[in-house]
Amino acid sequence: MSVNTAAYQTLMKELQPKGVQLVAVSKTKPAEDIRALYALGQRDFGENYVQELVDKQPQLPSDIRWHFIGHLQSNKVKYIAPFVHLIHGVDSLKLLKEIDKQAAKNSRVIDVLLQMHVAQEETKFGLDENEVSEILNHEALSALKNVRIVGIMSMASFVDDVQQIRQEFTIAKNTFDKYANQETNFFKMKYLSLGMSADYSWAIEAGSNMIRVGSKLFGARG
Ligand SMILES: *Cc1c(COP(=O)(O)O)cnc(C)c1O
Repeated sequence: MSVNTAAYQTLMKELQPKGVQLVAVSKTKPAEDIRALYALGQRDFGENYVQELVDKQPQLPSDIRWHFIGHLQSNKVKYIAPFVHLIHGVDSLKLLKEIDKQAAKNSRVIDVLLQMHVAQEETKFGLDENEVSEILNHEALSALKNVRIVGIMSMASFVDDVQQIRQEFTIAKNTFDKYANQETNFFKMKYLSLGMSADYSWAIEAGSNMIRVGSKLFGARG
């Protein structure tokens, strides 16, 4: 077992006065590590892989709020739809529609974040500002009664350049603020999910209110 209790307690002391929520990223870590952090009071956990999440969820307390933070394929939504708390990585209308459909089958409303691509690094995932706008203004949203867009998620480049990281986070924050002032019945900007073990301090400075931290709490992944 490799949970860093001291790091958790220090981090919580830092986050609580700022009102920042912690998602403890437990991907690749065993259920016993999750139980150890749960025993300290942590309830929000994040996983990246559908199969791993589906395996772990029944072994662990039912009041855990499971966040899906990886890239989600449409054909796998059905496996997590019965219990997932928040899906962070939504990057297409097609996926949004599938989440709505599976949520309806489970008589639930599922909250999601739109994933924005702000890093200068090339990655396949995430929406640019225009694509975020297209989704938020899309007429199809009014028919999606079982999915609720509640914010933006983003990742900065994996670089040492603090200025660059700050700039990238700021793009996400500006988009979040823009739509926070333009709420409709179909979306509400509540959560800005920015920051991981290496860059969460700058993310919080940039306005993040939800950080996703793994290795700092659970140790490096093998
Ligand atoms: C793995 C992962 C994290 C946590 O990364 P750490 O560096 O271990 O804190 C956060 N967000 C996403 C999307 C991840 O895949």
